[in-house]
Parts: sequence; C-alpha cells; structure tokens
Amino acid sequence: MSAIDETHDPARTSWIDSANGHPDFPIQNLPLGIFSPPAHHARPGVAIGDMILDLSGVGALLPPAVGHLLTGTTLNRLLGLPAADRVAMRRRLSELLSDPAHRSTLEPLLHRAEECILHLPAAIGDYTDFYVGIHHATNVGKQFRPDNPLLPNYKYVPIGYHGRASSVRPSGVAVMRPNGQRKAPDEDVPSFGPSRRLDYELELGIWVGQGNELGHPIPIGEAHRHIAGYCLLNDWSARDIQAWEYQPLGPFLAKNFHTTISPWIVTAEALVPFRLPQPSRPEGDPPPLPYLFDASDQRRGAFALELEVCIATARMRSEGDAPVPLSRGSATNMYWTMAQILTHHASNGCNLQPGDLIGTGTISAAEAGGLGSLLEISQGGKMPVSLPNGETRAFLADGDEVTLRASARAADYVPIGFGACSAVILPAP
Ligand code: MN
Repeated sequence: MSAIDETHDPARTSWIDSANGHPDFPIQNLPLGIFSPPAHHARPGVAIGDMILDLSGVGALLPPAVGHLLTGTTLNRLLGLPAADRVAMRRRLSELLSDPAHRSTLEPLLHRAEECILHLPAAIGDYTDFYVGIHHATNVGKQFRPDNPLLPNYKYVPIGYHGRASSVRPSGVAVMRPNGQRKAPDEDVPSFGPSRRLDYELELGIWVGQGNELGHPIPIGEAHRHIAGYCLLNDWSARDIQAWEYQPLGPFLAKNFHTTISPWIVTAEALVPFRLPQPSRPEGDPPPLPYLFDASDQRRGAFALELEVCIATARMRSEGDAPVPLSRGSATNMYWTMAQILTHHASNGCNLQPGDLIGTGTISAAEAGGLGSLLEISQGGKMPVSLPNGETRAFLADGDEVTLRASARAADYVPIGFGACSAVILPAP
C-alpha cells in the first residue's frame, strides 16, 4: 500500500481558489473521471474544487507510463497500471495544481464542473455486489427470521451475487421504476406491474485495478495492489419483486434494472491517511479462515468515512425545501474488509479485470439514525418516515431524489469527499 507523501500535506493549497476548503475535491483528493466539456466529446479529467482539469491536454506533462493513456473515453487502461504509476501521476498533478508557475499552461484546460457532463469512468466488464454490512444483514434477516437473523455462513464467507454491468449509470441519470412480478403476503398469486416497494441501498464501490489471470487467485496480502479506487454506489432494489423471486438463486430482476454510482474514482492513494484498523469481531465470532486473514489488512483495512443519505421529494424541490437526511453512519460497519472482498472473489480462480466494479453491500450503522435502506428505516414498510413538510415514505415515490455522500476525515488531514451519487425516480413505463 502506498505511503503518505507530500500530496497529502494539509498545508498544500491550489492556485484554483475553489479547491481550498472544498468539501469534496481539495488538492489532496484529485479523483479521476471521464467528462465532456460543453459541446466536446468525452475525455479523462481530474476534479479540483469547482473545476475539472482536462487530462487529455496534459499528457505531455505527466510521467510517460500514464501520459499516453489519457486520450480515450474510459480509464480502464489507466486502472490496469501498477499502483506506482498512479502514484507518480498523482504527485505530478499535485505539483502542477499547487505551483502557480503552471497556471498559465493549465488554465485553458480547466472547465467549470457544473457545465460538464460526467460519464462512467470505465467500461465495466463485470459488476458484483457483496453483503458485508453486518447490521444491514442482521436487520434484514430479522424481518424474515426474528430468532436467527444471520445464516450460519455469514461469519465465514463474504456473501455476494453477480450483478449486471450494463445497467450501471453515473449520478444524475434518472431511474425508471421497474415493472415486475409482485406478490403481497395476502395475495394468492402474483401480478405484473410497477414495484410498490422501491428502495435504495447505501454502498461503497471498489474499482478493480490490475486484474488476475483466470485460475490465479489473489493472495490477501496482495489484494491492495488490485484496488485502484472507490466510489459511492446505490443498489436500487425493488423489495416486492425481490421477496417473490429471490429463492433459491438470489437477487435477479429486483436489482439489475439500474445501479447508480458517483462518477469520480477516489483513488486508493488519496484515501491512505484515512485508513483505520478493521474493528475487532465480537467475542465468540470465528476468526477469518487463513486465506482471508492478513495482519496488515487487519491493522489498516477499514476507512474513516462518514456516509449520508438524503431525500428530496418532488414537492420539496418544487417548494425550494432543502434535502432531508435519512441516515448518517460510518463505513466501519463492514464485517469484511475491501481486501477480503477482493481476495474471496478471486479465491476460486475467478479473473477480475481493470474496471470491474464491486459493491460492498448496504452499510448500516448499529444505531437507528444510520440505517442504509428504507427497508430497515421503515421496518419493512410498517413504520413510514415523516418528512418535515408532512409527507411520509415507507418506500420511494415517483419524483423522489435520493443522494448519497461520503466524507473521509482524520485528525491532521484535509477532509476529502466522493461527490454526489444522486438520481430521481421516474414513473414505471
Ligand atoms: Mn446491495
């Protein structure tokens, strides 16, 4: 894992004024993405304050290993480089954006972010979603099995399912309410129609960096070399479709109709100052099997990330009301680390590729204010949330806008954020 260097120095500032004190994109972050400036085609960029630097125009100023990879419309090849190359690029970008001597060269390559379109940062070959939020798994399990919420495998094996890469979209793309088979408990047979229990799931996403060859697992001590960065991920879920279809093979159409991610790749390097020890397991829990245990991962495998979900209904937006928080919690509520997720995924020889996306699963806190889905907040729909304007929500209504945010915080470092992961619900077609 890369080290703290001058790019993390809290005293470092940028000649781009809006970067200094920016909640998400100060010079200590430098997240990577793909964007279109007004009336131009897509290209790689880095977010800095309220601006985006067009990386396709600065290739000659960057280390040769990365400079020639910054011309396309995806970051897959960049993600596939060794971490050392990304570190070298980060150090050079930090220098270019902090030293005013480079201002006249770079200013023509800056675009106001609000005028740009953000795209998916990579062509996502495969998308997998895990289930490592132990409080979420417990809360959901209780709704089905009050006495035995966690199945016996949960504390041994990181549970996951294969999702659908083709329906992942960046923040800002509206989500169409899915139609599907639903069967309420008091109905004898299912009917086909718009989901009545549409929900969000607050998750983090892992961007796979260097891949592994088919048949060659990734040892836990090397997992960090295969993680290029992270994003926010909203695994939209139709709970009624899910409840009827999930046995015996797991989620299918309840979750593959749309997945929203924050469009910036917050690199593993940017998050180095915010690593934490993985919380110790409760007394009596089994230790991870040896292939999932690494002392260094246990010491630094968690993140000091504060997560937040807000809602703004159509009525709130039309009346100018601010979004209302539905939950606030910490990313430390993960039973397995990112490295354990990755290593388990490849442990049977499954090959991961640069630009693959892996979701953590819903991250809920132990406390009532930090639940990462409406299924949990409304206790399966029985306890609707009351919003300040008198509206209530057991599940999402058409016109609702849901926004996920994350902020990395640590003493003596400048906080960095992920940007918004947001989408509005449209009526079923
Ligand atoms: Mn999920």
